[in-house]
Amino acid sequence: MLLDRQDHPCRACSNKRNGIKKRGVSAWNSGKRYSIREVGKTSYVDTFGYRQVWCGRGEGSLGRKDGYRPEHHLVMYESIGRFLEKGEVVHHINGNKLDNRIENLHLFSSVSKHRQAHNSLEDIAMELVKQGVIVFDGSKYYLAERE
Ligand SMILES: [Zn+2]
Repeated sequence: MLLDRQDHPCRACSNKRNGIKKRGVSAWNSGKRYSIREVGKTSYVDTFGYRQVWCGRGEGSLGRKDGYRPEHHLVMYESIGRFLEKGEVVHHINGNKLDNRIENLHLFSSVSKHRQAHNSLEDIAMELVKQGVIVFDGSKYYLAERE
């Protein structure tokens, strides 16, 4: 279960965007979260599993071209007072991409530091394989049944 993810764990937290465009309502306009502006979708979950929040379009809005921003980027924005710089990555500590509480987010200054964090988790997982806590069934890893 622990290692039963996508082909590369970093993909789980990388800030990839997709091209889904939806007109919508609300959100992080000039500091006002989720204020309804027009009828539509305030948020949706993209194909990478991230919640995208409507922020409005045009000058003064926090939205990107399509008017949306990933929620974890908005939460980090509120925390550090700026958007991410190039190379920075917001990591979901518990692996749940929809758990965007600030305490579940960690800002890495580079992709390689982010990868190191994921690698360290895999090292620990392999240690747990050695200890029998995680078992391999020939195709996937599972948590061993506790006796
Ligand atoms: Zn991550």
